[in-house]
Amino acid sequence: MKAPYTIPRFLIIGAGFSGAVIAHELAKSMECELDIWEEKLHVAGNCYTSRDEETGIMVHRYGPHIFNTDKKEIWDYINQFIQIKPIIHRVKAVANGNVYSLPINLHTINQFFKKTFSPEEAKVFLQSQAEPIKDPKSFEEQALSLIGRDLYKAFFYGYTKKQWGCEPSELPASILKRLPVRFNYNDNYYNNEFSGIPIEGYTPFVEKLLNHKNVHVALNRKFDPSDDISNYNHVFYTGPIDAFFNYKHGRLGYRTVLFEPFVKEGDYQGTSVINYCEEKVPFTRITEHKHFTPWENHEKTICFKEFSKETSGSDLPFYPKRLAKDKTLLYKYREEANSLENISFLGRLATYRYMDMHHVISEAINFSKIVTSAFSSNKMIPAFPNEEK
Ligand code: UDP
Repeated sequence: MKAPYTIPRFLIIGAGFSGAVIAHELAKSMECELDIWEEKLHVAGNCYTSRDEETGIMVHRYGPHIFNTDKKEIWDYINQFIQIKPIIHRVKAVANGNVYSLPINLHTINQFFKKTFSPEEAKVFLQSQAEPIKDPKSFEEQALSLIGRDLYKAFFYGYTKKQWGCEPSELPASILKRLPVRFNYNDNYYNNEFSGIPIEGYTPFVEKLLNHKNVHVALNRKFDPSDDISNYNHVFYTGPIDAFFNYKHGRLGYRTVLFEPFVKEGDYQGTSVINYCEEKVPFTRITEHKHFTPWENHEKTICFKEFSKETSGSDLPFYPKRLAKDKTLLYKYREEANSLENISFLGRLATYRYMDMHHVISEAINFSKIVTSAFSSNKMIPAFPNEEK
């Protein structure tokens, strides 16, 4: 560890949730100077929110983010900075020309199969539909073994192919495991105890995290692999790991999302999110943001059609695909990262994982504790907050 300064200087690359939480926690717990380089023209990364000028509606500029967690300490953490209003997120799905409720619940099952099953009857029925696959590995195997072919084809096959740009048989089972299957009429999209929407969006959360005399944020400051960062005692990099190494081993697979906005009068679809599960519909979903803040009144409405596509060139990476070939590449980059000194890789893009907001916050808080203790005892700061399996 270098010691050319009396007060340690840290560089954080990226002012999203990871970068902002680690900056806040370090500034709070130790005497240090922190520079943050953010390539966008705003903080908060893909959680950036701002009001639409025409309608006055709070818009989640990079797609909807509903804060949800089962950890009270993480709910309390974000609520120290901003007020999150509890809401239950409900999602509808269009499949086979009908509107259904998601995640798959007793209403979906009864409506889809035109039945009036009780919870127990539905369970037995789905068991008869499920395919006997031992130890399901892929998204497809997981779906077939859980809900059978008919529900899989109607709700998951087309949507997932559009969303991820590949066959669901190539994707890991973990993606499907994000969604519950329920044998009651609970249509809460999340299983987590706490869920809500910040009254003034997520941007003030990040602004408040970064509001410290020792934290210096530079916007529109893109990191370049040739930048000299050796003046810093430690660097926290939260951008894509392959970009850090100038893609020398190749590009990791990411999906990006293109948003097609449109403004209408009144209420366009009656709810915040409708998924379009059919393969022939070119977009994945339509989001109507006024429904995320039902306590506000707006005469007009703004909606976004979401189109998913593979990243190339300067496209913004959204969803890490983590196909087998991506993992091989990731191991190479991680090995190289582990051999460097004074740099750590943190967050969704730098660790190449499908992380929710609460995962990101929790991991950054924990990592800041590791950093402060390593610093005070002159130990190495680890390159990553996680092991890669
Ligand atoms: N999914 C699907 N149909 C749906 C909703 C989800 O096939 O109507 C699949 C899709 O592959 C998606 C995954 O389930 O990527 C996880 O869904 P989630 O809602 O968590 O995705 P996110 O909100 O992160 O885009």
